[in-house]
Amino acid sequence: MTDFIIKNARLATHDNLFDIRIKDAKITNIDKINHAIATDQNPQSNALKTYNEANYDAKGHFVCSGFYESHIHLDKACILDRCKVEKGTLQEAVDETGKAKEGFTEADVFERASKVIEMAIKKGTVGLRTFVETDEKTQLRSFQAIKRAQQKYAFAVDIEICAFAQSGLTTKPKTYELLQQALAQGANLIGGCPYKDENPEQHIEMIFALAEQFDVDVDFHLDFDLDPEGSSIPKLFEETMKRGYQGRVSIGHVTKLSAMDKMKRGEMAGLLKMADISLIVLPATDIYINGSDYECLIPRGTVNANPFYELGVNTTLSSNNILNAFTPYGDASLLRMANMYANIAQLSSDKQLAAAFDMITSNAAKLLKLNTEIRVGANATLES
Ligand SMILES: [Zn+2]
Repeated sequence: MTDFIIKNARLATHDNLFDIRIKDAKITNIDKINHAIATDQNPQSNALKTYNEANYDAKGHFVCSGFYESHIHLDKACILDRCKVEKGTLQEAVDETGKAKEGFTEADVFERASKVIEMAIKKGTVGLRTFVETDEKTQLRSFQAIKRAQQKYAFAVDIEICAFAQSGLTTKPKTYELLQQALAQGANLIGGCPYKDENPEQHIEMIFALAEQFDVDVDFHLDFDLDPEGSSIPKLFEETMKRGYQGRVSIGHVTKLSAMDKMKRGEMAGLLKMADISLIVLPATDIYINGSDYECLIPRGTVNANPFYELGVNTTLSSNNILNAFTPYGDASLLRMANMYANIAQLSSDKQLAAAFDMITSNAAKLLKLNTEIRVGANATLES
């Protein structure tokens, strides 16, 4: 295969521009350039360097390694036509999705998941973690569909599958059995949802036990309301430390943090930092679902992740749901998600915005244990 060159690329933390040379889908050279640069403002200044190979002139624009969805639900995306969405509450979303789930077939899940994956690829996403509900309603149908999608799109996007107990576990032995089967058949990690279980603490213990049994990472939907009391973070901290799971646990939503006073939020941040637990903020869902019972001064219901980032907690932003009762909007664009977050969290300085960018790139890649560096030897899949 012939070389492909991205000319005049701007890379993070460098003032110079670079030519990035690619062969056989790998970066083979990154050359600092010395010639005059063509830019949109000054298109005539290009011409000092000639290329025999195929190339793309970035004209001084920023080049990065791609975006990473750290928390998305492909199995229940694009089902608005099957749901009644009138109240915008969590209960409505759970009820409506529960009804729709019973009709999910493997072909149906595969088709909707493929649609969202293609949306994501077109928006520059190169890696994603998807939850797959594995319970009495769906059995392993959704899991098998997402596994097929994982293989079909492996050429463009790394997909990690999280076998997920969305609707309780402690009184549902069938769900436990199905989660075990999914993990035995290649699910990459295990996910729990303690706030939807009658016994949240036991739910957390059971999910960790499965994680240990299969030696996989664990991801919880956690603390999804605006009551500052009753957080599951201390329990999660205790289990993470006891089992030596530091760096292998992540939590999504955690909107209780947005309702806590600064001191209590700081205590929780300290626990996350000490146990190296990643915090995933889901701006579209968090702002849509929370606060619908307020008549005025409606809370944003979304955690400002920046103070956690500054403390050294691995923080990410992700889409969560696309076109369903939890989030009736969306196009799998992480740039749009970061922009929404920046508005909600009232980010202003360049430093704060750079942190938000890390949350959809390097931090999210860290969560997925993928490498985002633009370096010689790295994989090269391209979007412009
Ligand atoms: Zn979710």
